[in-house]
Amino acid sequence: MIYVYLEAHELGFKKNCFETITYALDLAKHTQEEVIGICLSHIDSNMFTQAENFGLKKIIQLYNPGFSNFDAQLFSKIIAHKIKTEQANIVFSNTVQGKYLAPRVAMLNHYSFLNNIIGLPENLVFKKNVYSGKAIQMCKPLNTNWVIAIASNSYHITEQKVSCNISVENIDIDLSKIKCISSEKTSDTISLVDAEIVVAGGRGLKGPENWGIIEELAKILGAATACSRPVADLHWRPHHEHVGQTGIQINPNLYIAIGISGAIQHLAGVNRSKHIVVINIDPEAPFVKACDYAVIGDCFQVVPKLIDAIKQVKK
Ligand SMILES: Cc1cc2nc3c(=O)[nH]c(=O)nc-3n(C[C@H](O)[C@H](O)[C@H](O)COP(=O)(O)OP(=O)(O)OC[C@H]3O[C@@H](n4cnc5c(N)ncnc54)[C@H](O)[C@@H]3O)c2cc1C
Repeated sequence: MIYVYLEAHELGFKKNCFETITYALDLAKHTQEEVIGICLSHIDSNMFTQAENFGLKKIIQLYNPGFSNFDAQLFSKIIAHKIKTEQANIVFSNTVQGKYLAPRVAMLNHYSFLNNIIGLPENLVFKKNVYSGKAIQMCKPLNTNWVIAIASNSYHITEQKVSCNISVENIDIDLSKIKCISSEKTSDTISLVDAEIVVAGGRGLKGPENWGIIEELAKILGAATACSRPVADLHWRPHHEHVGQTGIQINPNLYIAIGISGAIQHLAGVNRSKHIVVINIDPEAPFVKACDYAVIGDCFQVVPKLIDAIKQVKK
C-alpha cells in the first residue's frame, strides 16, 4: 500500500499533491499496490472533486478538532502510527510541510528516507537531485518500508476521473505541546515557494523606485516577486524575497529574471525552474547561457512592452 500525504490550503489541495498522486499511481502500476491519500485537514467538496479528477480513489481523513493548525511533531506522530499499522510506504512532496514531516515520519518508524526524488525508481533505485540540481544520485532504500519526498515540479500531473471514497478516522490523542493563540495574515501576495510563476529583479533595476515594472508584470501574470541577494542586502526589497544558495530555493513553472546576471549562487536557487526567461542588457551575462529564452535589451524598455503585449493577449 502506498500513502500520499495531502496538504491543503485555502483553495483546496496544494498543486504539489496532484504531482505526488500521479507519481504514486504510476509507481503502484508496477507494484500493483493500492494508493490512498492521507489528510489531516478538513476536506471540502472542492477538494473531493480535485481528488476525483486526479485519480485518487480513496482518502483517509485523520480527524481531531485540534488539527486545525499544522504541528510537525503531532502530525508526524499520527502519520507514522497510521502507516506503521498498515506496513505502508508514503510519498510526500517537498513543500514546507513535507520537509518537516517526511524525515520525522521515517525516523519514528525506522523507515528509509529519500528526499528530492525526481523520477520513478527502477528496481527500487530512486533518482535523487543533489548539489542544488547539479548532480543526480541513485539511491536504494535498504529497509523494507520507505518514506520519499518528491522534488516540486519534477513529475508530470495526469488528470484521470475516478470516484473517490473518503473515510474519516477520529484520532484521540494528547494534543500538541504548543497552542496557537491567533494567526494574522501579513500579506496577500502569492507565496514564493508555491508560486507557478515568479518574476525576479536584480541590481540591473538600479534602485527600489523602479520596482513598479516588476510588480506590474507579476500582477498581470499572477506571479510572486523575488530578487537577487544584493537587492535584499541593499534593502531595495525584503529579505524573504531573496532567492539563491543563501536564500529561498524555488522551482516554479516559469521564472522570469530581470536585470540579474545569473551568478552561480543565484542559479543554485532557481535552476530547477521548468522554464527560465531572462531579460538582460548584456548578451554575455551567465544567465543568458543558463536560460531557455533570453531577451537582450534594456529592461526599462522591454518590460513595459511585455506588459502591454500580455494585456493585449488577455483582452
Ligand atoms: C557565499 C555567497 C552566497 C551568495 N548567495 C546568493 C544568493 O543566494 N542569491 C543571489 O542572488 N546571490 C547570491 N550571492 C551573490 C552573487 O554572487 C551575485 O553577486 C549576485 O547574484 C548578483 O546579483 P545581481 O545579478 O542582481 O547583480 P549584478 O551581478 O550586478 O548583475 C546585474 C545584471 O543586470 C544587468 N543589467 C544592468 N542594467 C540592465 C538593464 N537596464 N536592463 C537589463 N539588464 C540590465 C547586467 O547586465 C547584469 O547582468 C552570493 C555570493 C556569495 C559569495
